[in-house]
Amino acid sequence: MNNGKASLRDALQRSLSGSVQFDAEANRQIGASLWNADVAPDVLALVECRSAADVQQAVRVASDYGALISTLGGGHDWAGRAAGRGSITVDLRQLKAVELNRDRSAVTIGGGTLIDHVLAGIPDDLAIVTGTISTVGVTGLTLGGGYGKLNSRFGLALDTMTRAEVVLADGSTVVASEQDDAELFWALRGGGGNFGVVTSITLAAHQLRHVLTGTIFVPLSSAKASLVGLQAILDDSGDELSVFSALMTVPSGDRGLILAPMWAGGERAGERALQTLSGLQGAQTLAQGWSTYRATYNKKFEETWPKGRGYRMDAHNIQRLDDTTAEALVECAKAFRSNADCVMLHDFHGACARVAPEATAFPVRSEHFNVQVVTQWSMDRPRDGEAALQSIEAVKEKLGPLAMRGGYTNILGPNESSRVRAFYGTAAQRLADVKRRYDPSDRFRFNTGRL
Ligand SMILES: Cc1cc2nc3c(=O)[nH]c(=O)nc-3n(C[C@H](O)[C@H](O)[C@H](O)COP(=O)(O)OP(=O)(O)OC[C@H]3O[C@@H](n4cnc5c(N)ncnc54)[C@H](O)[C@@H]3O)c2cc1C
Repeated sequence: MNNGKASLRDALQRSLSGSVQFDAEANRQIGASLWNADVAPDVLALVECRSAADVQQAVRVASDYGALISTLGGGHDWAGRAAGRGSITVDLRQLKAVELNRDRSAVTIGGGTLIDHVLAGIPDDLAIVTGTISTVGVTGLTLGGGYGKLNSRFGLALDTMTRAEVVLADGSTVVASEQDDAELFWALRGGGGNFGVVTSITLAAHQLRHVLTGTIFVPLSSAKASLVGLQAILDDSGDELSVFSALMTVPSGDRGLILAPMWAGGERAGERALQTLSGLQGAQTLAQGWSTYRATYNKKFEETWPKGRGYRMDAHNIQRLDDTTAEALVECAKAFRSNADCVMLHDFHGACARVAPEATAFPVRSEHFNVQVVTQWSMDRPRDGEAALQSIEAVKEKLGPLAMRGGYTNILGPNESSRVRAFYGTAAQRLADVKRRYDPSDRFRFNTGRL
């Protein structure tokens, strides 16, 4: 650092149009904005950016003073990487413009836009590929992958990204696409925020008048057979059907398997597909109906994971639901420490599985299930946080030996670099080369997907 902390403060305050907070106040404000209340932020400054020009200024000042930079989008990274220790946090939450292009084929959004914002900002008969919880940041989700119920129809969220505007470590801006800065564009699609601050992205918008969704409950005693049956159904179905599932305790107190199918295709075939699912062993259909894609977001379901509690997460990829993996999953659910433990599965097949592994920095393109493990506790009971680690480890012990190498980098924790490398495989070297070229001083080091 050159003139020290005081002049860094001065430079930030002079060059930004938004508010700039330091030390305790910065950490208080970041703490209040993160999903996981168990993160204790320890940043130098929190810089509110109201425009891409503000981001440039913040990054320039950080660079002049040799400071590290972290990026706050939707604040949903459970490990709190938006608040890297000793860094300046560039707060993008004001960058939430949503702009649909003339022919309604693409939408350009600010780097701090949440899923909620985008879906509210486009007509009801359009959809973009998003995740399952509406308060997650779209850019953070997309840079690491973007699993969601439209993957089988349209690809991962990152497959639908056609352009990204990025502020690089020296404060310059580039627009990366297949045509320009193509190697950076490749890296941004899977490599996370390791190369710069993404101030806006353009995503494909898809015509989708309505979708059919359902909620099916299977008691734990039938969950193994149903999971194996689900695999058979998915093997036989096309791109229109996606089934998100979760082993969890439902509000009535029963533990079991929730299947949340989404059909994005013709009406009669959709009704048939959901009927097949409702024939799985032990299945009880709790709800079913057609709606717009936006209306599929269920606030009640989202309240299961409210902001402000303590959380830990982990991720594993499993290739298929067969007797062995289904049994292991059910064993995990039987061993849940409390009702606060949950294992979720995103199915990965169809359009997302037809993308060439080397086309983006998300090389795992064979059919699989992305398993996400989440455990939560009340911050009033801090000792429950220690026990939560046991929940994560218990699932790892059971699923780890059956899982593919690596796991979803948006979820893997900061100490999981060997699993991150395993996920990228040969793409790791290419990512390291892009990193060296675009961020040689490693200013952006608090990110998911870090090698
Ligand atoms: C409740 C919950 C549900 C989830 N559901 C899904 C799901 O359905 N599908 C799925 O694929 N993932 C899901 N995730 C994982 C989620 O995609 C990642 O946690 C993602 O990183 C969150 O992005 P964010 O902007 O909200 O978080 P933040 O904490 O703000 O940022 C997380 C990371 O992304 C980087 N980042 C964010 N925005 C930018 C930007 N504009 N430029 C550069 N870097 C940026 C940050 O540097 C940081 O490393 C879920 C997570 C949670 C907690």
